Amino acid sequence: MITVNVAYPTLQNDTISFAWHADKHMPFFNQESFYIKYEGMNIENYSIEVYWQIFLSTLIPIFNLSEEPVELIFPESIPAYLAETWINYHLAANVRITPLCYETVIKENIHNTIPDNAKVGLLYGGGKDSACAFAMFSEIYGVENTLLISYVAPYDKNLFIKDDIRRKRLLLEPLQEELNVKVQTVITDIRAIIIDNDTAKHMHLAMFMGPALPIVIHYNLNVVTFSYEFDLYWTSSHTTGRKKFYFMLSRPEFCSYISERTNAILGTNFIIANPNFSFSNLIAFKILVNRYPYMMKHLLMCEDTSDMDEKWCYNCDKCLKFALYCLYYWRGEGFIDISRVLIQSPIIKRALSPEGLLENSYCNIVAALDPEYVAQKTSEEAFAIFMTLREKFSKWANPSFESFISPAFEKLALPQPLGDKLKNIITAYCPEINEVQPYLFSGKLWVDIDYNLICDVPNVFMLNHM
Ligand SMILES: [Zn+2]
Repeated sequence: MITVNVAYPTLQNDTISFAWHADKHMPFFNQESFYIKYEGMNIENYSIEVYWQIFLSTLIPIFNLSEEPVELIFPESIPAYLAETWINYHLAANVRITPLCYETVIKENIHNTIPDNAKVGLLYGGGKDSACAFAMFSEIYGVENTLLISYVAPYDKNLFIKDDIRRKRLLLEPLQEELNVKVQTVITDIRAIIIDNDTAKHMHLAMFMGPALPIVIHYNLNVVTFSYEFDLYWTSSHTTGRKKFYFMLSRPEFCSYISERTNAILGTNFIIANPNFSFSNLIAFKILVNRYPYMMKHLLMCEDTSDMDEKWCYNCDKCLKFALYCLYYWRGEGFIDISRVLIQSPIIKRALSPEGLLENSYCNIVAALDPEYVAQKTSEEAFAIFMTLREKFSKWANPSFESFISPAFEKLALPQPLGDKLKNIITAYCPEINEVQPYLFSGKLWVDIDYNLICDVPNVFMLNHM
């Protein structure tokens, strides 16, 4: 058993810091502390459970990686309901929390607004998916009721200031100036204190969910969104039939579990929703281009460069997507050098190697694009590359990537009239379908999605707290 003593968090105006000490070396951490800064937002006066929730949500999955069981010893009693929530959510059979208390705590006194006037907070990265969600929600609720949550959490400590300034300069300030949208920036070293990216990924959406709670309370949010496209949520391998809930921790069942239990204990009234759960990023782009063209110049998809003046690295998946999506839908130029992407992209080079594969949404694009049009818009060399791609991959175009997937949307169980309003916007741009055809996930694995499957949050807590 590893014993971890957790210290009281320290609070200073807009910043909270946590520290702990393990009695044995734990190889998952670079250091035994982290901070979260809610820029300009005083967070000193919340109830202690709000702070503990941040700690539990983010670090339980990391402690749970230990081969030896881990006992977290807190300096005061933690409500069992809260401990149970995060241990179950993270399936953390390896983590015990002590001491516990069994009273129901409802300390935050928040008055609720009527659903139609609800305020929405969007986890905002600036790419096509979150930009689409922002545009749709600001149409439904009004931009004055919309908050962008910019979460700056680089893997590398040296990138902090650069990432923050770059995002503000290239993304947030132009949006604030032009659309007068509210922005709450959150800066944290939570990823940088963890030994590597793969380990940090175990936090999944909880890296945002727990830390978002002070923002939910401060802005009285009723809806908190994040944006992951449908194809991440496959449920079995098409080749072997093996079942797996990919991206489980951000599935609708897991999101409802967290919001319902948080509402019950803290008296908040919010839901966590992924508006992009029922369509692809090809459709997100299509909605932006056709309904919200003013958002095009505000897209900041590429995060592989720290260049202060350049939006694109020309090498990553996001740059390739933007270039091809522009060709596919937008029929305009000037935002990215499309020929340069086609010639330079390592993803295309890999795809064109003998065993190479290509992500499904790209296959739809290369199948549907008119070669004559591409020839006009690209250099000779880039056009030749495009035609080779087209020959190899156009047979894999898949209608699921250009549709609205009804059973996925129903799974979100959004309150009305929000649900109908969102659905009306999305279905104005694509047909509805009831089933997803098998597709090649991430250019690697053939997968299926079965929307009849329900992924219940298991009761792990009782097992290790008996
Ligand atoms: Zn890039």
